[in-house]
This record gives sequence, structure tokens and C-alpha cells, in this order.
Amino acid sequence: MAQERREMVEQLKFYGITNLRVLDAFMTVKRHLFVDEQSRPYAYDDCAWPIGYGQTISQPFTVAFMTSLLVERRPSGRVLEIGTGSGYQSAILDALGYQVFTIERVPGLFEMAGRALDELGVPVARRLGDGTLGWPEEAPFDGIIVTAAAPDQPSTLLSQLADGGVMVVPVGDLASQEMTVIRRVGSRFEHEVFQRFAFVPLCGREGWPESN
Ligand code: SAM
Repeated sequence: MAQERREMVEQLKFYGITNLRVLDAFMTVKRHLFVDEQSRPYAYDDCAWPIGYGQTISQPFTVAFMTSLLVERRPSGRVLEIGTGSGYQSAILDALGYQVFTIERVPGLFEMAGRALDELGVPVARRLGDGTLGWPEEAPFDGIIVTAAAPDQPSTLLSQLADGGVMVVPVGDLASQEMTVIRRVGSRFEHEVFQRFAFVPLCGREGWPESN
């Protein structure tokens, strides 16, 4: 699968991903180990694949885009991911040298991702629950990546950002969301807005109702 991985990285470059550390991480992490048997031959295509429970592993470009936004603003430290899903984004963050914390709300995915990460020996702290509430015992975080569609800026998560910390979060309606970067500067929050994506909903107390 190394050749497929190289081709995926070439495609990411073609789509405008330039950060060499990010491209290196995509070359290192074996994405095919985070999808099921059926999707495995296509694991390196630039597509989102179903991972069960109505959820998806995000397409490589999306993961690379969000990761670049974080790496270029906060290159090291402790990062909280909301929406473990397959575990792939966690493994990419670990390959970049971050200390990774991740929260998933679906028990079946929490277990599946845990198995994949354990088999690969990726040391990620994992929690089952509503990620919109963050992980107060481990806060503050240098970075927070939300890998599901938020209806608004998640305020509890923002309160768990360190000074100078950066959150990357898709904010919008259920059809599409603007990729948003929020940096904490003392008691202020600075915003940058990027292109639109389509994520599965962030469900929970500060997200969409559980029925979505
Ligand atoms: N980062 C994942 C990966 O690398 O495979 C992809 C994430 S998938 C697009 C979004 C995930 O967010 C789903 O697994 C979903 O169950 C999870 N999710 C949605 N709302 C959540 C919440 N409030 N807390 C934690 N996880 C949540």
C-alpha cells in the first residue's frame, strides 16, 4: 500500500497542501488500517468512507486541510480531537508529535478506533462521551480539532483552549459548514474563515440534537 499512499500524498500536494510535516505524516500513517475490509482497496482514494453507525472517515484532503491549519498556527503541544471516528485523524496528530486526547460519542466506534490505535501502538488518550463538553480534567489544550459539523462555536470547548491555543471547527448548518479557526488571545477570540465542507453532525449538549 506504500505506492497508493505516495499517490495520495501527491494528490494532496496537487490540491494545495504544502506543509511538509503534514505531508510526511500522511506518508507515515497507514490509512488502510482504519477502514473496514470492503473499503481497504480504496482507502487511499480522496473519499470519505462509511465506518458504520452512519459515520465516516473524513476524506484525506479534509483531514490534511484541518491539520495544516492547526500545525501552521500551533506546531506542538496537547491537542483534543472531538469525533474519534476511525482513529485516523488521531494517528495523524500523533505522527506530528502532538500529545493527543480524543472523544467519541458512539460506543462501537470508540471501541473500534481504540483497537486500531492500540494495534499500531499509537498512544492516544481516549474518552467515550459528549465531546461538546470537552475534557475539563485535561484542559487547557494548545489545539482543539472538531471533526463534525457544529451549529455554532462550541463555547465550552473554547473555554478549554490555552492562551494562544487554536481551535479548528467546521461551523454551519447540516448541509455545509465553513472551516473556522478560532485563536484565543487572553480573553479575546480571533477568527479566520476558510472554504466550505460537508461533515456529519456534531451531536450533543452544545451541538445538534441526538436525533441527527
Ligand atoms: N476524525 C474521524 C476520523 O479520523 O475518522 C472522523 C470523524 S467523523 C467525520 C465524525 C465523528 O464525530 C463521528 O464518529 C461521530 O460519531 C463523532 N461525534 C459526533 N458528535 C460527537 C460528540 N458530541 N462527541 C464526540 N464525538 C462526536
